[in-house]
Amino acid sequence: MMLSSSPTDAEPTPSPVPPGGVVPVTESSGSPFTKSADSSSTPTTTSFDLPKLRLQFHDLAHPGSSIFLTSVVPPQIFSAAVQNVLSHLYNAPGYPHLHPPPTRSVTLILRPMGGVAYTTGIDLDDDHKEIHLSLEYVAGINPAGRRTHEITGVLTHELVHCHQWNGQGAAPGGLIEGIADWVRLQCGLAPPHWKKERAAKWDAGYQHTAYFLEYLEGRFGKGTVRKLNEKLRAEKYEEKAFWTGTLGRPVEQLWEDYGKTLQAKGDSGAGPQDGKQTLDEATQT
Ligand SMILES: [Zn+2]
Repeated sequence: MMLSSSPTDAEPTPSPVPPGGVVPVTESSGSPFTKSADSSSTPTTTSFDLPKLRLQFHDLAHPGSSIFLTSVVPPQIFSAAVQNVLSHLYNAPGYPHLHPPPTRSVTLILRPMGGVAYTTGIDLDDDHKEIHLSLEYVAGINPAGRRTHEITGVLTHELVHCHQWNGQGAAPGGLIEGIADWVRLQCGLAPPHWKKERAAKWDAGYQHTAYFLEYLEGRFGKGTVRKLNEKLRAEKYEEKAFWTGTLGRPVEQLWEDYGKTLQAKGDSGAGPQDGKQTLDEATQT
């Protein structure tokens, strides 16, 4: 294992992630996800109890099914991505204040459909999640060399939805999507088109909010997003109390400050808003 392959995994907290706790997910870092990877490098110890993970194909004859199966090793990609999601949102077990939701199972369903992917709970029991991934989307990932990276990135994003809190259903969708893409970013799985550019609103979602959260981590310290996620567990989201209570300032001011740092770095500008967004999806929220 290459536990230190991602500098973002280093944690200054008193609860270090144990060996095997954080799994590298980028292809360049010796990913365990590719077919060619030595299966003996798969972690045998896990930091978090995993939900039951299931996989369904609704059309094995679809080109996307073969592409999926030749691009990733499902048991490895699945369990490693869940570990990474939980590590980024909840650190190691034993950490006294952070509690993942009681997600009991996640079923990844590959089926012909429009869009990219979405996550939903099951009507009878929200502790059971379904991730629907479009076979057309998988088949269309271009160039082919990006398949493993992109599939892992999309799956990581969706797995965040299976394990994040949502302010008792009151958090803005853009914050939920931003946290999902922030984890994807931390895992080194950002697609090449993502750019640090300022959107119109802090909760524009996806990479726009993800980079804003990255800025907040840099400014207020590692674990800031964990803290926000924890507050989304503990309380019903109410914008002013949420941001002032966690970071001491209203989100508008933080967004303003972020914009200034982008301008100072020359990264800002009125770039395209969501035109190049990869994930256009519904979530369980
Ligand atoms: Zn999403």
